[in-house]
Amino acid sequence: MSFNLPKLPYAANALEPVISEKTINFHYGKHHQAYVSNVNNLIVGTAFENATLEEIILHADGGIFNNGAQVWNHTFYFMQFSPDGCKEPKDELKAAIEKKFGSFEAFRDAFSKAAATLFGSGWAWLVINTDGELEIVQTSNAGNPMRDGKKPLLTCDVWEHAYYLDKQNARPQYIADFWKILDWKVISERFAE
Ligand code: MN
Repeated sequence: MSFNLPKLPYAANALEPVISEKTINFHYGKHHQAYVSNVNNLIVGTAFENATLEEIILHADGGIFNNGAQVWNHTFYFMQFSPDGCKEPKDELKAAIEKKFGSFEAFRDAFSKAAATLFGSGWAWLVINTDGELEIVQTSNAGNPMRDGKKPLLTCDVWEHAYYLDKQNARPQYIADFWKILDWKVISERFAE
């Protein structure tokens, strides 16, 4: 299977000032594209030649896992943003967050802490775990919670390439601004699937 870079549902400058057009052009246009090109090249002649990205995440290792998972992770990340999206969870997802974390604000603080304290490169996630409960998890490098049987709902990319052009070393500022561009309609649809 050959993978393509998915088209973004917004213009490259639509998330400014939170994420600049320059960052989109590098993070999506160069990094995400490179993961797509790399996995397409690496799977040729292997057991993963006709695999889906989900199959690669569950079963591959090494470069095929790293690049395939990064394609999936970045698509999942970029598709959850909108310049004029729903700013807070509603209905069943809101109730589930309040049940697990006490309030939306408490959830936001706990998720932000997970994103800020992840050492090095990786991702913070809100997932549904194998007990069917909401959980905040961290993964390093290209890691994806599906590998542990968990269903991703929301993610924050804390690789430096996600924020360095806009915020330099200020990862906490990137995380604080991240909440302004999330579209909770997208995240609610993932929860309901
Ligand atoms: Mn990234």
